[in-house]
Amino acid sequence: MNLLIMGPPGAGKGTQAEELVKRLGITHISTGDMFRSAIKEGTEMGLKAKEYMDKGELVPDYVVVGMVKERLFQSDSVCGFLLDGFPRNVVQAEELDETLKSIGLSLNGVINIVVPREKLVERATGRRICRTCGASYHVSFKKPREEGICDNCGGELYQRSDDNETAVNNRLYIYEASTKPLIDYYTTRGLIRNIDGDQDIDKVMEDILKNICS
Ligand code: ADP
Ligand code: AMP
Repeated sequence: MNLLIMGPPGAGKGTQAEELVKRLGITHISTGDMFRSAIKEGTEMGLKAKEYMDKGELVPDYVVVGMVKERLFQSDSVCGFLLDGFPRNVVQAEELDETLKSIGLSLNGVINIVVPREKLVERATGRRICRTCGASYHVSFKKPREEGICDNCGGELYQRSDDNETAVNNRLYIYEASTKPLIDYYTTRGLIRNIDGDQDIDKVMEDILKNICS
Protein backbone atom coordinates (compact mmCIF):
# COMPACT_ATOMS: atom_id res chain seq x y z
CA MET A 1 0.00 0.00 0.00
CA ASN A 2 1.49 3.35 -1.11
CA LEU A 3 -0.13 6.25 0.70
CA LEU A 4 0.24 9.93 1.24
CA ILE A 5 -1.00 11.84 4.29
CA MET A 6 -1.73 15.54 3.97
CA GLY A 7 -3.34 18.38 5.91
CA PRO A 8 -2.32 21.74 7.38
CA PRO A 9 0.50 22.07 9.95
CA GLY A 10 -0.71 20.69 13.29
CA ALA A 11 -3.53 18.63 11.73
CA GLY A 12 -2.14 15.38 13.16
CA LYS A 13 -0.28 13.90 10.17
CA GLY A 14 2.79 12.82 12.14
CA THR A 15 0.71 11.45 15.03
CA GLN A 16 -1.44 9.31 12.75
CA ALA A 17 1.50 8.33 10.53
CA GLU A 18 3.46 6.97 13.50
CA GLU A 19 0.63 4.51 14.31
CA LEU A 20 -0.49 3.78 10.75
CA VAL A 21 2.93 2.58 9.55
CA LYS A 22 3.08 0.16 12.50
CA ARG A 23 -0.38 -1.23 11.73
CA LEU A 24 0.21 -1.57 7.98
CA GLY A 25 3.89 -2.54 8.14
CA ILE A 26 4.89 0.15 5.65
CA THR A 27 7.75 2.68 5.57
CA HIS A 28 7.21 6.17 6.99
CA ILE A 29 8.79 8.85 4.80
CA SER A 30 8.49 12.22 6.54
CA THR A 31 10.39 15.04 4.86
CA GLY A 32 10.19 17.17 8.04
CA ASP A 33 11.76 14.31 10.08
CA MET A 34 14.45 13.83 7.41
CA PHE A 35 15.37 17.50 7.59
CA ARG A 36 15.39 17.44 11.41
CA SER A 37 17.76 14.43 11.32
CA ALA A 38 20.02 16.25 8.85
CA ILE A 39 20.08 19.28 11.18
CA LYS A 40 20.94 17.05 14.15
CA GLU A 41 23.77 15.46 12.17
CA GLY A 42 24.98 18.92 11.14
CA THR A 43 25.08 18.14 7.41
CA GLU A 44 25.37 20.94 4.85
CA MET A 45 21.86 20.19 3.58
CA GLY A 46 20.49 20.29 7.16
CA LEU A 47 22.08 23.66 7.88
CA LYS A 48 20.67 25.12 4.65
CA ALA A 49 17.18 23.64 5.32
CA LYS A 50 17.14 25.07 8.87
CA GLU A 51 17.25 28.63 7.52
CA TYR A 52 13.94 28.03 5.73
CA MET A 53 12.35 25.87 8.42
CA ASP A 54 12.90 28.32 11.27
CA LYS A 55 11.00 30.97 9.33
CA GLY A 56 8.21 28.54 8.46
CA GLU A 57 9.10 28.67 4.76
CA LEU A 58 9.36 25.79 2.32
CA VAL A 59 12.80 24.35 1.61
CA PRO A 60 13.49 24.76 -2.16
CA ASP A 61 11.87 22.10 -4.36
CA TYR A 62 15.11 20.78 -5.87
CA VAL A 63 16.46 19.94 -2.40
CA VAL A 64 13.30 18.16 -1.19
CA VAL A 65 12.62 16.35 -4.46
CA GLY A 66 16.20 15.05 -4.63
CA MET A 67 16.00 13.82 -1.04
CA VAL A 68 12.65 12.04 -1.54
CA LYS A 69 13.74 10.43 -4.81
CA GLU A 70 16.80 8.98 -3.12
CA ARG A 71 14.63 7.67 -0.28
CA LEU A 72 12.06 6.09 -2.64
CA PHE A 73 14.83 4.26 -4.48
CA GLN A 74 15.79 2.43 -1.26
CA SER A 75 14.58 -1.15 -1.11
CA ASP A 76 12.16 -0.81 1.85
CA SER A 77 9.92 1.54 -0.15
CA VAL A 78 8.94 -1.26 -2.51
CA CYS A 79 6.94 -2.97 0.28
CA GLY A 80 4.75 0.10 0.76
CA PHE A 81 5.24 3.62 2.09
CA LEU A 82 3.45 6.50 3.74
CA LEU A 83 4.62 9.91 2.54
CA ASP A 84 4.12 12.61 5.20
CA GLY A 85 4.80 16.30 4.47
CA PHE A 86 5.56 15.69 0.78
CA PRO A 87 4.44 16.86 -1.73
CA ARG A 88 3.72 20.40 -0.54
CA ASN A 89 3.03 22.03 -3.90
CA VAL A 90 2.03 21.07 -7.45
CA VAL A 91 5.64 20.98 -8.75
CA GLN A 92 6.54 18.43 -6.06
CA ALA A 93 3.38 16.39 -6.82
CA GLU A 94 4.29 16.21 -10.52
CA GLU A 95 7.86 15.19 -9.67
CA LEU A 96 6.48 12.49 -7.38
CA ASP A 97 4.19 11.13 -10.12
CA GLU A 98 7.14 10.91 -12.52
CA THR A 99 9.45 9.29 -9.98
CA LEU A 100 6.88 6.66 -8.98
CA LYS A 101 6.15 5.91 -12.63
CA SER A 102 9.85 5.43 -13.34
CA ILE A 103 10.07 2.73 -10.65
CA GLY A 104 6.76 1.09 -11.56
CA LEU A 105 4.83 2.30 -8.49
CA SER A 106 1.75 4.46 -7.96
CA LEU A 107 -0.25 5.94 -5.10
CA ASN A 108 -3.23 3.96 -3.72
CA GLY A 109 -4.73 6.81 -1.72
CA VAL A 110 -4.26 10.27 -0.24
CA ILE A 111 -5.45 10.76 3.35
CA ASN A 112 -6.48 14.38 3.84
CA ILE A 113 -6.86 15.32 7.51
CA VAL A 114 -9.36 18.13 7.97
CA VAL A 115 -9.17 20.34 11.10
CA PRO A 116 -10.68 23.82 11.65
CA ARG A 117 -8.03 26.52 11.30
CA GLU A 118 -8.62 27.97 14.80
CA LYS A 119 -7.45 24.70 16.41
CA LEU A 120 -4.19 24.43 14.47
CA VAL A 121 -2.07 27.07 16.22
CA GLU A 122 -2.83 25.59 19.66
CA ARG A 123 -1.95 22.11 18.41
CA ALA A 124 1.33 23.15 16.80
CA THR A 125 2.57 25.49 19.57
CA GLY A 126 1.78 22.85 22.24
CA ARG A 127 3.60 20.09 20.36
CA ARG A 128 6.62 18.43 21.96
CA ILE A 129 8.95 16.03 20.14
CA CYS A 130 11.29 13.33 21.39
CA ARG A 131 14.92 14.23 20.65
CA THR A 132 15.81 10.55 20.29
CA CYS A 133 12.97 8.80 18.43
CA GLY A 134 10.93 11.74 17.07
CA ALA A 135 7.64 10.67 18.74
CA SER A 136 5.17 13.52 19.06
CA TYR A 137 3.30 14.69 22.19
CA HIS A 138 1.15 17.65 23.21
CA VAL A 139 1.23 19.62 26.47
CA SER A 140 -2.57 19.22 26.86
CA PHE A 141 -3.89 16.71 24.30
CA LYS A 142 -1.25 13.97 24.36
CA LYS A 143 0.76 14.15 27.55
CA PRO A 144 3.63 11.76 28.18
CA ARG A 145 3.38 9.60 31.34
CA GLU A 146 6.27 11.59 32.86
CA GLU A 147 6.61 15.27 31.99
CA GLY A 148 9.39 15.99 29.49
CA ILE A 149 10.20 12.29 28.94
CA CYS A 150 9.27 10.12 25.94
CA ASP A 151 7.02 7.11 26.78
CA ASN A 152 8.59 5.05 23.97
CA CYS A 153 12.31 5.47 24.59
CA GLY A 154 12.87 7.70 27.63
CA GLY A 155 14.31 10.45 25.40
CA GLU A 156 14.08 14.15 26.22
CA LEU A 157 11.09 16.08 24.83
CA TYR A 158 11.69 19.47 23.18
CA GLN A 159 9.73 22.14 21.35
CA ARG A 160 10.54 22.50 17.64
CA SER A 161 12.13 25.87 16.79
CA ASP A 162 9.42 26.42 14.13
CA ASP A 163 6.54 25.75 16.56
CA ASN A 164 6.30 29.37 17.71
CA GLU A 165 3.24 31.43 16.81
CA THR A 166 4.97 33.53 14.10
CA ALA A 167 6.41 30.55 12.20
CA VAL A 168 3.18 28.52 12.59
CA ASN A 169 1.10 31.35 11.14
CA ASN A 170 3.52 31.61 8.21
CA ARG A 171 3.32 27.84 7.66
CA LEU A 172 -0.49 28.06 7.68
CA TYR A 173 -0.35 30.85 5.12
CA ILE A 174 1.97 28.81 2.86
CA TYR A 175 -0.25 25.76 3.30
CA GLU A 176 -3.27 27.73 2.02
CA ALA A 177 -1.36 29.16 -0.95
CA SER A 178 0.78 26.20 -2.07
CA THR A 179 -0.32 22.92 -0.49
CA LYS A 180 -4.13 23.16 -0.36
CA PRO A 181 -4.38 23.16 -4.20
CA LEU A 182 -3.15 19.56 -4.01
CA ILE A 183 -6.57 18.54 -2.68
CA ASP A 184 -7.96 19.31 -6.17
CA TYR A 185 -4.93 17.69 -7.81
CA TYR A 186 -5.60 14.39 -6.03
CA THR A 187 -9.40 14.66 -6.15
CA THR A 188 -9.16 14.81 -9.96
CA ARG A 189 -7.12 11.60 -9.81
CA GLY A 190 -9.74 9.90 -7.60
CA LEU A 191 -7.32 9.45 -4.70
CA ILE A 192 -8.49 11.81 -1.95
CA ARG A 193 -9.92 10.40 1.33
CA ASN A 194 -11.14 13.20 3.60
CA ILE A 195 -10.85 12.39 7.31
CA ASP A 196 -12.29 14.46 10.17
CA GLY A 197 -9.19 15.29 12.24
CA ASP A 198 -11.19 17.22 14.86
CA GLN A 199 -11.78 14.14 17.02
CA ASP A 200 -9.82 12.11 19.57
CA ILE A 201 -6.54 10.75 18.20
CA ASP A 202 -7.81 7.12 18.42
CA LYS A 203 -11.05 7.94 16.61
CA VAL A 204 -9.13 9.63 13.78
CA MET A 205 -7.03 6.44 13.42
CA GLU A 206 -10.19 4.30 13.36
CA ASP A 207 -11.69 6.46 10.58
CA ILE A 208 -8.46 6.32 8.54
CA LEU A 209 -8.31 2.52 8.78
CA LYS A 210 -12.02 2.14 7.88
CA ASN A 211 -11.55 4.45 4.93
CA ILE A 212 -8.41 2.95 3.41
CA CYS A 213 -9.39 -0.66 4.01
CA SER A 214 -12.92 -0.33 2.56
P1 ADP B 1 1.36 17.53 11.86
O1 ADP B 1 2.33 16.38 11.60
O2 ADP B 1 0.16 17.46 10.96
O3 ADP B 1 2.00 18.87 11.83
P2 ADP B 1 1.18 16.40 14.56
O4 ADP B 1 0.77 14.99 14.32
O5 ADP B 1 2.59 16.61 14.97
O6 ADP B 1 0.79 17.35 13.33
O7 ADP B 1 0.19 16.99 15.66
C1 ADP B 1 0.34 18.35 16.10
C2 ADP B 1 0.08 18.39 17.61
O8 ADP B 1 -1.31 18.12 17.85
C3 ADP B 1 0.86 17.35 18.40
O9 ADP B 1 1.26 17.93 19.61
C4 ADP B 1 -0.14 16.21 18.61
O10 ADP B 1 0.11 15.52 19.83
C5 ADP B 1 -1.48 16.96 18.66
N1 ADP B 1 -2.58 16.19 18.06
C6 ADP B 1 -2.52 15.36 16.98
N2 ADP B 1 -3.74 14.85 16.72
C7 ADP B 1 -4.60 15.39 17.62
C8 ADP B 1 -6.00 15.25 17.88
N3 ADP B 1 -6.78 14.45 17.12
N4 ADP B 1 -6.53 15.95 18.90
C9 ADP B 1 -5.74 16.76 19.67
N5 ADP B 1 -4.42 16.93 19.49
C10 ADP B 1 -3.84 16.26 18.48
P1 AMP C 1 6.87 19.27 8.94
O1 AMP C 1 7.67 18.42 9.88
O2 AMP C 1 6.19 18.47 7.88
O3 AMP C 1 5.95 20.20 9.68
O4 AMP C 1 7.92 20.18 8.17
C1 AMP C 1 8.73 21.11 8.86
C2 AMP C 1 9.39 22.07 7.85
O5 AMP C 1 10.28 21.33 6.99
C3 AMP C 1 8.45 22.81 6.91
O6 AMP C 1 7.87 23.97 7.49
C4 AMP C 1 9.42 23.16 5.76
O7 AMP C 1 10.28 24.22 6.10
C5 AMP C 1 10.27 21.89 5.68
N1 AMP C 1 9.66 20.91 4.76
C6 AMP C 1 9.18 19.67 5.06
N2 AMP C 1 8.69 19.05 3.98
C7 AMP C 1 8.84 19.93 2.95
C8 AMP C 1 8.50 19.90 1.57
N3 AMP C 1 7.88 18.83 1.02
N4 AMP C 1 8.81 20.97 0.80
C9 AMP C 1 9.45 22.04 1.33
N5 AMP C 1 9.77 22.15 2.63
C10 AMP C 1 9.48 21.11 3.44
